[in-house]
Amino acid sequence: MSWRVPKFPCDAKIYRIYWDEFPEEVGYVGHTRQKLLSRRMPSHRDCAKNGRTSLVYQKIRERGDFQYELLESIFCQDFDEARRHEKRWSRRLKANLNMISPLLTKEERKEYEKEYECRPEVKARKKKYQQTEKYKTQRRDYLNKPETREHTQTQQAKYWVEYKTRPGVQKKSKENITCDCGSTVRLLNISHHKKTKKHQNFIASQK
Ligand SMILES: [Zn+2]
Repeated sequence: MSWRVPKFPCDAKIYRIYWDEFPEEVGYVGHTRQKLLSRRMPSHRDCAKNGRTSLVYQKIRERGDFQYELLESIFCQDFDEARRHEKRWSRRLKANLNMISPLLTKEERKEYEKEYECRPEVKARKKKYQQTEKYKTQRRDYLNKPETREHTQTQQAKYWVEYKTRPGVQKKSKENITCDCGSTVRLLNISHHKKTKKHQNFIASQK
C-alpha cells in the first residue's frame, strides 16, 4: 500500500513508540509527514524485520509489536525543523531508544535516508521509476561513462582483495581440482579456467 506523503512545508507529527510492558521506559521519539501515524508504523516494522541495527529496531525484534502515540503535530518549514522538534521532545522525555546526539549530524541524515528508503511507499515508487525508459537510458549512459567504469573497476578490485582474505575463501583458494579437460585448476580460478583456450578446445572436441 502506498500513500501520498505531503512535502515540506507541512505538518510534522512527533510521535513516541513504547511498550505497555515496559512502563518505566519512554521508548523512541520520531517524526513523520504522514497524515496518519498508523501509516508510518509499517515501515518501522519492516526495518525491524530487515535487521536494521538502531536500538529501537533491536527492541522491536526482542519485544514484538509496540504501542505508539502522538506527542505533537506542528507545522514545519523543512526536515531540519521537524528534526529539531523531534530532538526537543526526545531530550525532554529522555527517550531511551533514540540514538544520542544533540544536533543533526551527517550520519543521522544518512540514517534517516536509509530508513526513508526502506519505507514501503518509497520502495514502490522507486521500483516503478526504475521501469521507465527515462531511467533505463540515464542508467545506461551513467554506466558507460569512463569515470563510472574506472570507479567500478576499482571497487571490484577492492572487493576481490577483501574477498580473498576471508577465512573460508582462503582455505578454498588452496584447493585444487582436476577439470574434465584434464587440467589441474585452483578451485577459485575455475570460472576463469573455463574461458581458456585449452578448456574451450576440450569442450569443442566433445561435441
Ligand atoms: Zn578445463
